[in-house]
Amino acid sequence: MTGRSHDLGAFTLLIIAFVHLPQVPSMTILTAVVAFGANFLGGLFPDIDQTTSDFWDNFRFGEVVGKIVCKYLGGHRHISHSAIGFVIIGFGSRFVLQILSPYILIDMNIVWWCFMIGVLSHFLLDIPTKEGLPLFWPSTFKVGIPPFKSLRIEAGGIVENYVAFPGMLLLSAYLMYHNQSMFIQFFHQIVH
Ligand SMILES: [Zn+2]
Repeated sequence: MTGRSHDLGAFTLLIIAFVHLPQVPSMTILTAVVAFGANFLGGLFPDIDQTTSDFWDNFRFGEVVGKIVCKYLGGHRHISHSAIGFVIIGFGSRFVLQILSPYILIDMNIVWWCFMIGVLSHFLLDIPTKEGLPLFWPSTFKVGIPPFKSLRIEAGGIVENYVAFPGMLLLSAYLMYHNQSMFIQFFHQIVH
């Protein structure tokens, strides 16, 4: 999947999670903005093992740092796309947010959840691609749905651009429309 699809995937999964919450969460506008950014970064984060990824484009010197990190992570789609990687990303990000929490007055718990929803969406979106997902790394077995590689989609190909991308866009729009009272309540609350 391309960075563009991962951005939208992270947003879509965030919307899905939001509309399933038992009640509209309350937070400050700053928390909401940072959490939204964290969700976006989470959606791209597993591709830190890919020098050309959109993740690195977000930083100054990103390309150079990316090249070094990628070398240590063993190339594209290895540890950062595995179950072990998911747990490490989860604990690691929690740890970083905890260190930052005395300095930034935002709800780090919400930020962490939004980040992890982004990471999860990345995993989910890489499953139907030809490359598959090395979920059980260090085993080289790759998880893919459907199980036959020939039936899976090409990253940046026609199915991704004309089916998956608009599909996620429509789903997000539908969920927002269908649950508009939740969103209105949410925005009303954060600006007050
Ligand atoms: Zn990926």
